[in-house]
Amino acid sequence: MLKVENLAVNYGYIIALSNINLEINKGEIVTLIGSNGAGKTTTLMAISGLVEKRPGSKITFKGQDITKMAPNKIVHMGMSHVPEGRKIFPALSVYENLRAGALGNKKMTKARFEELVEEQYTLFPRLKERYKQAGGSLSGGEQQMLAIARGLMMDPDIVMLDEPSLGLAPIVIEDIFELIVKIRDMGKTILLIEQNASVALSIADRGYVLETGNITLQGTGQELLVNPEVKKAYLGA
Ligand code: ATP
Repeated sequence: MLKVENLAVNYGYIIALSNINLEINKGEIVTLIGSNGAGKTTTLMAISGLVEKRPGSKITFKGQDITKMAPNKIVHMGMSHVPEGRKIFPALSVYENLRAGALGNKKMTKARFEELVEEQYTLFPRLKERYKQAGGSLSGGEQQMLAIARGLMMDPDIVMLDEPSLGLAPIVIEDIFELIVKIRDMGKTILLIEQNASVALSIADRGYVLETGNITLQGTGQELLVNPEVKKAYLGA
């Protein structure tokens, strides 16, 4: 589904990513864990076409080279990016936020749009209850749900989530992660970026550990959960 080869990104003189290689197969939940500043957000932005990559980097999505493709084209190929910090539209209602998620999709019919809104309301019943409410008036967990639902309104094949647990209470994080599994079970592929390694690895099929712009470890979610280095560095053991 998605292949990243030799991905390197600089911000001026700062080397954010040195040489990232990763692969995500259809129907998998793959997580990229790492501490603050390791390069997780930069990896997602590079995949989405939002930051410039160094020569030699290659990103392939559904068999097509998207390394130099514009971000809007990548979205329309079926890649949705739910950014860190949610970035919902606070003054727009829940329904309007969902509608914004489908904007610009020329293939979207009215019937498919309505079906997608209903899918979001089934997946996130609280959004249905609050559909007229301003996005900014929702709780943190609800805003995260809205950000994910808005990302699903593009009808993507792959959903990339940047730190969905950020700033949320443990009980709310559990709800969000159960929903991520449900979204995968609906047929989506998931790339999940997380600082909260324990929850991310517990639902992931596979994971990669990112340290100062390099992948240092990889394995199944279970393998990484019991790995002594991961335990020491990321699981507080
Ligand atoms: P966080 O969890 O804090 O978002 P991260 O793992 O996502 O961390 P990145 O945000 O990708 O890490 O940052 C990787 C490196 O690039 C860090 O050293 C960061 O300071 C640097 N960096 C990120 N954005 C910029 C920028 N716009 N200009 C300069 N340096 C940047």
